[in-house]
Amino acid sequence: MLTVGAGALAVGTGTVLANENNPGKKTEKIKVLTTDGKVIEVEKPAGNCKINPCSPAKGAAARHGIPGRSFVMVIDLARCKNARKCIEGCQKGHNLLPEQEWMKVYLRKDHPDAEPYWFPKNCFHCDNPPCVKVCPVGATFKRSDNPVLVDVNRCIGCKFCISACPYSARILNWTDREVYADHDPDYSPETSVPGQHGTVGKCDFCPDRAREGKLPYCASSCPMGAIYFGDKNEDAVTNGEETLRFKQLIKERIGYRYLEELGTEPNVYYLPPVNRMFPYERGLNNLSAERKEVILKTITR
Ligand code: SF4
Repeated sequence: MLTVGAGALAVGTGTVLANENNPGKKTEKIKVLTTDGKVIEVEKPAGNCKINPCSPAKGAAARHGIPGRSFVMVIDLARCKNARKCIEGCQKGHNLLPEQEWMKVYLRKDHPDAEPYWFPKNCFHCDNPPCVKVCPVGATFKRSDNPVLVDVNRCIGCKFCISACPYSARILNWTDREVYADHDPDYSPETSVPGQHGTVGKCDFCPDRAREGKLPYCASSCPMGAIYFGDKNEDAVTNGEETLRFKQLIKERIGYRYLEELGTEPNVYYLPPVNRMFPYERGLNNLSAERKEVILKTITR
């Protein structure tokens, strides 16, 4: 469990213990990683509403980041086997159609003689986001805790942001599906639900879940623990099973950001696919015959 707002990053599962001063009252305890690397047990903060405001934030409140936070994701390419559970978890959590993939998994190859590897790619929540700069109505915005979000109640569907994103992270919501609302005053850019026909959608880094002390849907759905999420200010990331020092992980595993030279300053880092846990062929089994053929023909370099 990832706990935000407690001054430390929680690891493992919280345990419910009896409160010594009031035996009838249960107090939930969580394990947290201190800044000097020790795991200690503390009382869980009482209610997520202490992380101002309550989850999910709406309206103007959703435009402000959670104070003191700097969310970051690290994807370990050595662990990815194209299980596609991250995509499923994201689609379920955000009420997306099967063809709407905010997390995509590509098969990449860095050299003609090199083995291919699976490469999950979502929005990178850039610190210098070209998409935000071109939005004429302020529908997409950057928060102080790093997520780049979309307010579909403001979006006019001009698609400038889709063209500006060098990573093809955005998609147009183009369906008459009933779950889409025309204008929902209860909509929160933190959940991105419900979407609206003719507006733009993309990965939102699940800030509503961060407020609740949970990992993003993709990270919590990955059976391989390939996706770590955490806070740069606390220098800690977790995949739900282990919690690691962010800086040390990037340093020791030679972490990198995709197309660093563009100057977009992504908040998603990759660990190179060295000593991979599975041969890439295994990931082909999770694709339809048609999709497999396309993927093998179009391996990106
Ligand atoms: Fe914007 Fe694309 Fe960067 Fe996401 S990856 S913040 S959509 S430029």
